[in-house]
Amino acid sequence: MPFTLPALPYPENALEPSIDAQTMNIHRTKHHQAYVDNLNKALEGHADLQGKSIEQLCAGINGLPDAIKGPVRNNGGGHYNHSFFWVLMAPKGQGGAPSAALAAAIDKAFGNMDEFKAKFADAGMKRFGSGWSWLIKKTDGSLAIVSTPNQDNPLMTGLVDATGTPLLGCDVWEHAYYLKYQNRRADYLKSWWDVVNWNEVSKRFA
Ligand code: MN
Repeated sequence: MPFTLPALPYPENALEPSIDAQTMNIHRTKHHQAYVDNLNKALEGHADLQGKSIEQLCAGINGLPDAIKGPVRNNGGGHYNHSFFWVLMAPKGQGGAPSAALAAAIDKAFGNMDEFKAKFADAGMKRFGSGWSWLIKKTDGSLAIVSTPNQDNPLMTGLVDATGTPLLGCDVWEHAYYLKYQNRRADYLKSWWDVVNWNEVSKRFA
């Protein structure tokens, strides 16, 4: 099995109260695990693809055989997105602050940090149904906020509006927040800022 569920870099209850331990447990050990299992299943018999990284599979999604393109898009996307999501969060007070370079780039692109947060949350709120909001670094070095449906991500060339390197991503599927917040996606998005790992975001920006 080429892909496995990555270890969580903090205890399941470490992101409370923003994300409760039960949601974290089910989200990771059931939802994320299912993406991993179904990705491995889709790649059975494709030794050449089993050797690729998850980033390579996402970036090359349009070149995959038609029979597995859909399953890899959904489950490979799910595996990449969730692996990314876990490390882009940290217990409250431990995520640091944006680096000076990242803060300057955010100011340049969005006006200031509050405007950035408002626009990022707005992308999540306007995503109808299930999906993600992202902060990406485009190939020209500039920042952009994008939203993707389902488990698509900004690595998927030819499938998404704007491709780039993901710096930050927020899961707005109901399974990410429903146990604690029910229908209140806005409250989840607001509380989520408390557990963003800015040290990791800054590292990826650099
Ligand atoms: Mn999810």
